[in-house]
Amino acid sequence: MVTMKQQDQEQFEKAKELLEPGTVTELGFVRSLYFGRLQLERLMPYPRPDEREEPRLADLLARLDEFLRTEVDAERIDIEERIPQRVIDGMGRLGVLGMTVPSTYGGGGFSHTAYCRVIERLSRHCASTAVLVGAHQSIGLKALLLNGTEEQKRQFLPDLAAGRKLAAFCLSEPEVGSDAANIQTRARLSADGTHWLITGQKRYATNAALAGFMTVMAQTPVEDNGKVRDRVTAFIVTPDAPGFELLSPNRSKCGIRGSWQATLRFTDMPVPLDRVLGEVGHGLRVALTVLDFGRCTLSAGCVSGARRALEMAVEHARTRQQFGRAIGRFHLVQQKIARMAELVYAMDAMTYLTAGLVDRHDPDLVLETAVCKLFCSEGSFRVIDDAVQIWGGEGYMREHGLERALRDARINRIVEGTTEVMTSFIALLGMKGVGEELEMVARAAHHPVENLGRLAAFARHGFDDVLRGHAHDHTLAQLDPELSEQGQTLARLTRRLARSVDHLLARYRQDITQMQLLQQRIAWSVADMYAIAAVLSRLQAQAVSARGNGHGREWARDLRLGKSFCHRAAARVDHHLSGLFHNRDREILALADAILGFEPEGASTQ
Ligand SMILES: Cc1cc2nc3c(=O)[nH]c(=O)nc-3n(C[C@H](O)[C@H](O)[C@H](O)COP(=O)(O)OP(=O)(O)OC[C@H]3O[C@@H](n4cnc5c(N)ncnc54)[C@H](O)[C@@H]3O)c2cc1C
Repeated sequence: MVTMKQQDQEQFEKAKELLEPGTVTELGFVRSLYFGRLQLERLMPYPRPDEREEPRLADLLARLDEFLRTEVDAERIDIEERIPQRVIDGMGRLGVLGMTVPSTYGGGGFSHTAYCRVIERLSRHCASTAVLVGAHQSIGLKALLLNGTEEQKRQFLPDLAAGRKLAAFCLSEPEVGSDAANIQTRARLSADGTHWLITGQKRYATNAALAGFMTVMAQTPVEDNGKVRDRVTAFIVTPDAPGFELLSPNRSKCGIRGSWQATLRFTDMPVPLDRVLGEVGHGLRVALTVLDFGRCTLSAGCVSGARRALEMAVEHARTRQQFGRAIGRFHLVQQKIARMAELVYAMDAMTYLTAGLVDRHDPDLVLETAVCKLFCSEGSFRVIDDAVQIWGGEGYMREHGLERALRDARINRIVEGTTEVMTSFIALLGMKGVGEELEMVARAAHHPVENLGRLAAFARHGFDDVLRGHAHDHTLAQLDPELSEQGQTLARLTRRLARSVDHLLARYRQDITQMQLLQQRIAWSVADMYAIAAVLSRLQAQAVSARGNGHGREWARDLRLGKSFCHRAAARVDHHLSGLFHNRDREILALADAILGFEPEGASTQ
């Protein structure tokens, strides 16, 4: 077995810090899958819109639609690379910029689900404007909402909710992107201990050039077991502080061109003590929690981009004639249309299921939001790319908006956790819990007499879950008969996943942290399984209401879509899980090493 090198060990320790989920009181749906538990009942019934806020939301959406139609020229925003101030002011007036802020602080007090619907609407019309709103509300002011003191909230939220000030979230730096724990910006206490002094640079900070409020992450010295260590702390920063410099307001880029990403420099910038968000040294957790919310709303933007592309593709496939027939008659085009429609249905089901779980304050959502982001950002890009292909040469032309949609959607695979980082994160965070349980059992097995109770509990539950699978049979039994085969398939995949994870952990132990091709198969298996579960939950809800109100046609169409998605996704999961133990990974990695001119690394041996 390969062993970890010193550098890998350090990375592993850092990764553990990033992965540490805090205290998880109950396992969420996705985390449970790794243990072989299919907790479908956690996802049923499919979340319904909140009836109390529906009229207010409908009113907001109607006013927003009108505003977008008359005031927001997305093409011009893209070409001119700026969102006019009157658009930002309009968003403030409509109440969009503060819709999730509680009414006590001047906001709309809307649910997360309602916010996702607004982001969908914005993204469909102008992705740049959606990014401005998202950077402000999903991440910029979120740490203040979640971790701010009452005084901080009273001081800043009213202006932010009304759009008098914009917010930005400043984590990334020239040398630090995905490796968030390695932030170089530092904050030290002033000699008299009356304030912090922050020094460093930030880049890609969306909205920062326009913002009056910034959440800034910096390393602070923290005492831990008698040793002083660097730990990230979140600070409130305002641009009027001495030592604050805007090095560049924006850089020209591929898509979402109207949104602005600033480069900032802080030089001994004084920040009052009461501008710390949360506790000193706990900033990484603050940042990761904020990103949990951001990932869910980002997914809503992905859904709308994909839905619009699907509609355009359908329209073109029906009307464009080649070889004497509509191109939609050709099987290779039909194959795309079917795949796109399934994906859009699954992405939508997953996004609004996850948003509903957020609104329900489910205690363990970190994996659900991460999977949602990964699945939707990859899915939407694929759907839009297929739409461009179906449109042929016209798809490549500016005037139809598909090429802008493709450029705009590309960023979703990079921000708020790149696809690669999310893939690794999802696999490792899920497996971490299983590894810990197995370690506990292994330790207990050395002293079986003292640990009889623990071992017996594992034998009763853990063993049973992994080998036979545990699903609340009553939830599976309650599924509409049309869905029972898909439910049984998901139960089978859950057992297979858990057995595979156990095998991997037994075989590779902590070296698994370096084996990203194996992680990828686990993460995508889990993503597809969560998607299947979301589709089943949505279809089950539709089945119930179709019976009640006779919406038979819609139900029949969606049932076909959902079943087809489940079939395809289950086949992918089986393929991924088979690939865990039979693959060409070693050859592929050796080839990459040769091309890169690297010496082969021990830990990459799979
Ligand atoms: C338009 C835009 C808006 C943004 N807005 C904000 C914002 O508002 N606030 C903010 O703080 N940041 C923002 N960012 C920064 C964004 O979050 C980062 O770009 C992102 O986290 C990736 O970091 P990076 O660009 O440094 O890439 P890197 O981390 O250098 O990654 C480069 C490549 O290496 C891969 N990689 C890195 N580490 C691993 C690993 N462990 N395993 C496998 N592959 C790996 C990545 O997946 C990627 O493919 C924005 C960026 C852009 C482009």
